[in-house]
Amino acid sequence: MRTGCDYLASLKDSRQVYVDGVAVDDVTTHPGFAPIASVIAGLFDTAADPASDMTCVDPATGRTVNRLFTAPRSARDLTAFREAATVWARRSHGWVGRSPDHVGAFLSAFAAHPEAFASGTRDFGAHVAAYRRRVAEESLHVSYAIIPPQVSRADSGQAWAGDLVQVGIVDERDDGIVVRGAQMLATGGAVADEILVSCIKPLGPEDTDFAVSFAVPVGAPGLRLLCRRPYAPGASSVYDYPLTSRFDETDALLVFDDVFIPWERVFVHRDIAGLRRQFFDTGAHLFGNWQAQIRFTVKLQFLAGLARKIAAVNGVDRFPGVVEKLGELASLVSLVESAVLAAEYTAAPDEQGLWRPGVRAVYGAMGLQSELYPRVLAILRDLAGGGVLQVPAGVGDMTSPRTRPDIDRCLSTPTASAEDRVKLFKLVWDAVGSEFAGRHHQYELFYAGAPFVVRGYAFRNYGFDAHVADVETFLAGYGVGSEA
Ligand SMILES: Cc1cc2nc3c(=O)[nH]c(=O)nc-3n(C[C@H](O)[C@H](O)[C@H](O)COP(=O)(O)OP(=O)(O)OC[C@H]3O[C@@H](n4cnc5c(N)ncnc54)[C@H](O)[C@@H]3O)c2cc1C
Repeated sequence: MRTGCDYLASLKDSRQVYVDGVAVDDVTTHPGFAPIASVIAGLFDTAADPASDMTCVDPATGRTVNRLFTAPRSARDLTAFREAATVWARRSHGWVGRSPDHVGAFLSAFAAHPEAFASGTRDFGAHVAAYRRRVAEESLHVSYAIIPPQVSRADSGQAWAGDLVQVGIVDERDDGIVVRGAQMLATGGAVADEILVSCIKPLGPEDTDFAVSFAVPVGAPGLRLLCRRPYAPGASSVYDYPLTSRFDETDALLVFDDVFIPWERVFVHRDIAGLRRQFFDTGAHLFGNWQAQIRFTVKLQFLAGLARKIAAVNGVDRFPGVVEKLGELASLVSLVESAVLAAEYTAAPDEQGLWRPGVRAVYGAMGLQSELYPRVLAILRDLAGGGVLQVPAGVGDMTSPRTRPDIDRCLSTPTASAEDRVKLFKLVWDAVGSEFAGRHHQYELFYAGAPFVVRGYAFRNYGFDAHVADVETFLAGYGVGSEA
């Protein structure tokens, strides 16, 4: 199986990645991308290590592959998928949102449903299945960009004046299509092998130019990635910024300057209903977001550990008010943990044999995420008090003989040395207050869509009918003249 070394070597290609107007020569050595590339490389090494128990035989090929790139075909497969996804999530303690298993899960569900891609004269289902096989066999890191730029949410791409802004088809050839425009927001795109480009926002009948879905290598001629400022280079040290310095994924706007996409990489072509089918009829949206909730659980568990630890170090953990806050935190984390397990417990095979996690549990947990994550951060901030700012500027203070004695004398507690305590509080700040933390806050609110969109999924998938019927039966059981 592909190792981290193989992965890093393949990133040295013709990709056009821009930061602050400057082209990045090599993402594996650039300070903004090298840390996250190294984390992803570590994931591939973990998967390739038999001790991680992350492999299985791909039924499509009979070859041994990372199970995170195959569709679960039984309850046991689904459990094994969760365990493997947890192994990867723990490598970053949940701080890497778009590890290769995220889009990998989407693609597995796509490929389990070739019929959802049937349209026109070409066999797009076969394209999807072949692409998923390649992703599994070559252990590809695929990121995605499935949202139009925020030009206007009041109308759709066709209404935007001028040249194409949202990515769309500008030319059709015998051998493929040519696309132009942009799409947001490919997290991890700069260090991915390939990017799945599509549109999940509803389109109107006049938007057929934009109704496409395709996979493109990051180094494809004409594709540019305009990245937001990476935060890792601003991290003065691992001690000062333990999360920023390692786990900053970067996010990128993709700009397509007449990029040629061969037919075998096209999955949806001028098919507005097909866009919806690929995400929702195949179970891809559900399955991919289940992976996201597994990762989210690991992150919340880490944050809960952090909160418990700072309460102990500050000696406040026996105060009833603090216990109550920690109890609230435990409850919030338990809800998401439980939803992940409930999704597994209520899973069932669909008509193509894809074992789908329980829809209510997955979307129910997602629907709360935009309130739950800020609440977890608020509890952490509350427990940390001023401790996150009562820290020296950097490791220089820790090593200078002029400042270290003051730090040792004033910043230690009966249970922690000053060095350990500063280390802990710097980690808390990186989780709740740094620019990396701010980005994560925004990520957890929006990564699966704006909160109103995500609650729409929860609403539609809950299955209110049985409960409404129950209420109606109850109402029918008494009237104005009824006795108690
Ligand atoms: C850090 C980060 C990383 C991400 N990574 C990826 C990625 O890797 N790949 C990817 O494809 N996507 C990614 N996303 C998600 C995606 O880019 C969008 O942020 C998400 O789909 C929400 O769309 P939007 O940002 O355009 O928000 P909008 O839809 O523009 O919403 C902005 C605000 O307007 C409100 N609003 C808009 N329309 C309505 C309406 N009709 N009714 C009521 N309120 C409305 C929303 O509630 C919200 O408050 C990421 C997002 C973030 C923040």
